[in-house]
Amino acid sequence: MPFAAAAALMLALAGCSNYETPRRQAWRGAAEKACLAQRPFQVSAYIQPAREIDGPGICGLYYPFKVSALLNGQVRLNSAYTLDCPMIARLDAWMSETVQPAARARFGEEVAEIAAMGAYSCRTMNNQPGGRISEHAFGNAIDIGGFRLARGREISIRHDWWRGDEQTRAFLQDVHSGACGEFTTVLGPGSNIFHYNHIHLDLAMHGNASSGPRRICRPLLGPSPVPEPPRDGLPNPPEIDEEVDIAENVRPAEGAVPMHAGPGAGPPARIPDALFAEALRLPPARAYAPLPPQPIGAPFGQNSASRPEGKPPDWDLVPSAPAR
Ligand SMILES: [Zn+2]
Repeated sequence: MPFAAAAALMLALAGCSNYETPRRQAWRGAAEKACLAQRPFQVSAYIQPAREIDGPGICGLYYPFKVSALLNGQVRLNSAYTLDCPMIARLDAWMSETVQPAARARFGEEVAEIAAMGAYSCRTMNNQPGGRISEHAFGNAIDIGGFRLARGREISIRHDWWRGDEQTRAFLQDVHSGACGEFTTVLGPGSNIFHYNHIHLDLAMHGNASSGPRRICRPLLGPSPVPEPPRDGLPNPPEIDEEVDIAENVRPAEGAVPMHAGPGAGPPARIPDALFAEALRLPPARAYAPLPPQPIGAPFGQNSASRPEGKPPDWDLVPSAPAR
């Protein structure tokens, strides 16, 4: 029928014109607004609102922030990066729930600085011509090249992922695995050739599986099985030889803690008050450990693996805190 054919043609043309001027997906702005409504962080010297970025093409975001530190200034970034609200909130959560606990457990100190390698950048995935638009084009992604600990030590993904010592490799595995619980896309070394020197984190919408939002986590590792070192930095105590460490049939001295060997509830233990008094006179365990110095403020080394690659326009490294 001519009318139906004309209508079909009109629909097809309408469809075509939509493809010619693609629009940013609606969920992106909705996710930004939902995040802002929850006020997950405070605007501060470290998190400054910036002007809306609209284009080129569908690139951009409504409410960009220039971020120069996370956790309210506790963890610096090596530059100011443009990110959306959901990424900042997730990065804070990842830092406080995964990265800092792992750093304390593995190294006895916290991460003071993150060497990022790019956040907002209007480009395709992995900078491949004709590739899909990257989450970086919406400020919804960040690339992590390494970390600096409070006492100044640098940990780089490029070097330490494969060639770091056991605890350092375990730390990177822990932070990668923990990221998979916060972000919807996590790509580290081994996921493909482009990620040999950084971990890519983003909050892309991959659709839903029966178990909830679909996530991409590569390589899929889980937390490292390598045990954490002893916390006080002292050597492990010798194993207790239970054959020897059993109270013999010795009559306890006057005032000693009554011992109870064997199953079942023993007599209520009466610990002499003198023992508590003794313990109170001891300095706290922390007093034996050296205090960490202030974070070292030198920039990441020029030859460091944390140095961004690609063309300067891709780096997104230019600090642009608005003049106040
Ligand atoms: Zn990336």
